[in-house]
Amino acid sequence: QNLSKHYHSNDHQLTVLNNISFGIEEGETCSIVGPSGSGKTTLLGLCAGLDSASTGKVWLNRMCLNDMSEDERAAVRGEHVGFIFQNFQLLPTLTALENVMVPMELRKEQNIRSRAMELLERVGLEDRFSHYPTQLSGGEQQRIALARAFSNTPRILFADEPTGNLDEATGEKVENLLFELNKEQGTTLVLVTHDLELAKKTQRIIRIKGGELVSDEKSVNVNY
Ligand code: ATP
Repeated sequence: QNLSKHYHSNDHQLTVLNNISFGIEEGETCSIVGPSGSGKTTLLGLCAGLDSASTGKVWLNRMCLNDMSEDERAAVRGEHVGFIFQNFQLLPTLTALENVMVPMELRKEQNIRSRAMELLERVGLEDRFSHYPTQLSGGEQQRIALARAFSNTPRILFADEPTGNLDEATGEKVENLLFELNKEQGTTLVLVTHDLELAKKTQRIIRIKGGELVSDEKSVNVNY
């Protein structure tokens, strides 16, 4: 609701987002599109509770993130939210397998190792299980992050350019996995993408330009 984000440098104020409001229903799939620098990643970070707005509020499942302490926000993220962000992904000191295991470990679940291996198989990276993030390509890291999102069974997944630096076949694989997560577990998907073909496969398209919301429409091309 009414989200704005300003940055200050010296006596200059830069407005990156200006009074943006929208709502996403549970189980919905939605894309945020717009030119480079228009504020998409910033908006996604605010919605995921990774960053705080200058003004305005973010509500997640009727909880207002702005009224919470950082610890409370982290707990909500851990319980409900998955994210695939380019610069905020894997823990560098853990292997691929260990990264996928983290959410299950935090919840003290059973058979964690074998379930994490299954998830790695699902993203086609079972042979990289012992690799550290620095030993993986950008696209492989993205797929590990997706396997971790699956293990977390998030209510909502925020993904920043999930297919951005992937070749066509791998991009398609990741895309299918995202929609499977939505169909199988009812996970709400919010994607930032420059890929209009991908955006058209989501139910809603929100367009941002120069930090302003220019349109919020049902996608006419949903193909599932
Ligand atoms: P792209 O499609 O290129 O990834 P985007 O739409 O996701 O772009 P953002 O990354 O949200 O855009 O950035 C929006 C604007 O905010 C940019 O002009 C950027 O330079 C500015 N910006 C982002 N972070 C900061 C910061 N920490 N300090 C100052 N300006 C910032």
